[in-house]
Amino acid sequence: MAVPKRRTSKRKKRARNTHKIAPAIVMQACPKCGSMKRPHRVCQECGFYAGKQRVAAREG
Ligand SMILES: [Zn+2]
Repeated sequence: MAVPKRRTSKRKKRARNTHKIAPAIVMQACPKCGSMKRPHRVCQECGFYAGKQRVAAREG
C-alpha cells in the first residue's frame, strides 16, 4: 500500500480546501408575484413557472 512520505502541510491542506466552499444560493425575484425564488424552480409563493400555474399557490 502506498504511504505518503511527508505529512501534508497546513498551507497545502488549506490551499486545497479553498475549492471546497459551497457556492452561494442564487435568488431572483419571481416575475409574477415578486417574491425571491431560485432560478429554474417553481415559485414557492404563487406556484408559477415559465408563465404557467404549475402547482397550487401556498395558502395564506
Ligand atoms: Zn411567485
